Amino acid sequence: MNLVLVVNAGSSSLKYQLLNMDDESVLAKGNCDRIGIGGHVSHKIPSTGYDFEADCNFPTHTEAFEKLVEVLTTGDGKVIDSMSEISAVGHRIVQGAEVFDRACMVTEEVIDKIDGLSELAPVHNHPHALALRACTKVLPEGTPQVVVFDTAFHQTMPPKAYLFGLPYEDYENYHVRRYGFHGTSHRFVSSTLANVMGKDPKDLKIVSCHLGNGSSITAVDGGKSVDTSMGFTPLDGIIMGTRCGAVDPSAITFVMAKHGFDSHEMSEYMNKKSGFAGLSGVSSDNRDVCAAADQGNKRAILTLDILQYQIKRYIGAYAAAMNGVDAVIFTGGIGENSVEVREAVCENMSYFGIEIDKELNKTIHGKLAKISTENSKVEVWVVPTNEELLIARDTLAVIAENK
Ligand code: ADP
Repeated sequence: MNLVLVVNAGSSSLKYQLLNMDDESVLAKGNCDRIGIGGHVSHKIPSTGYDFEADCNFPTHTEAFEKLVEVLTTGDGKVIDSMSEISAVGHRIVQGAEVFDRACMVTEEVIDKIDGLSELAPVHNHPHALALRACTKVLPEGTPQVVVFDTAFHQTMPPKAYLFGLPYEDYENYHVRRYGFHGTSHRFVSSTLANVMGKDPKDLKIVSCHLGNGSSITAVDGGKSVDTSMGFTPLDGIIMGTRCGAVDPSAITFVMAKHGFDSHEMSEYMNKKSGFAGLSGVSSDNRDVCAAADQGNKRAILTLDILQYQIKRYIGAYAAAMNGVDAVIFTGGIGENSVEVREAVCENMSYFGIEIDKELNKTIHGKLAKISTENSKVEVWVVPTNEELLIARDTLAVIAENK
């Protein structure tokens, strides 16, 4: 078996999937979390329904990674005899900035560079570096490791799309620009769709809507990201579970003054208290907001209106940016499952030639399907995302290139 372990490390968690790349199936998956504040492991084997959870003690990422090795190689949930059976490890990294425009092999220098970008992604990059070091310490020597960046797909954006209207020196000195995120997801769904449509990605203009807890929309022209809604951080763009999306910058300084917030407090307010949660007052979860809207809750109805309107605006903007659009993709928890959001976004889009089959749309949950009618000029698809699988594929591709 050609096994690849995919690791997605946060400041207090280490999510993992072990994939058998012979058939791209998931052998095991789970999470070692509460790192630094206790410790907890969950370990699942999808093929058998095995599901294990336990409290642990994880002072650092190293103990968490040691536990990951333990659950994979011992006890009732064991799926391999030893870590030497694993061909490679692929790590998801949030911020690669302009330093990394593609996946690459892990070296000490690469880990230092990822850590060096921590100022641009304080919540993510330093924990990634800690996890990479922990992994390197615990894995059998010589196990190849690869890093795959959320931002890399968007490095093809032209300056007119990635620069803000701030003094150019702030870009030069402090690297303030749009980076974009969810790149692995947008790349996965847009290339999957090109395959399914039997087209060369070079011949397609796609608007990819990744709508989840965090949401971003990307214009993919000829297989390349040419613009995206998330910006310097994942806060920009459309409203999300708890994030505000784009706001007039002066409203931010005004609100800071009114509440007496410092920059950290304002950041918490925009990242954790806004979006669906702040607007609806109901929940950060789309299902709860939809349920409240069904009951007539006015703020919940308004929240969904805002979400759908903002998505429409991006589709229009990106159709203009690309001088056309061949297909719109819905993905992420909301995009793959929310019949209401998909229907509302595609309503009154006849100007673009978008028409969906509403009855068919109602039947599609989390599976690949075309939901536009035969008359629709633009094809509309639901394409389930699978970032772990693309990370595993990239991992093998990078290793093959470096052989
Ligand atoms: P994350 O960005 O954390 O990966 P997901 O992509 O899993 O999040 O998306 C989570 C969002 O998807 C939540 O707002 C949730 O309500 C929504 N969602 C999940 N399933 C459904 C469903 N069946 N109908 C509507 N929304 C759904």
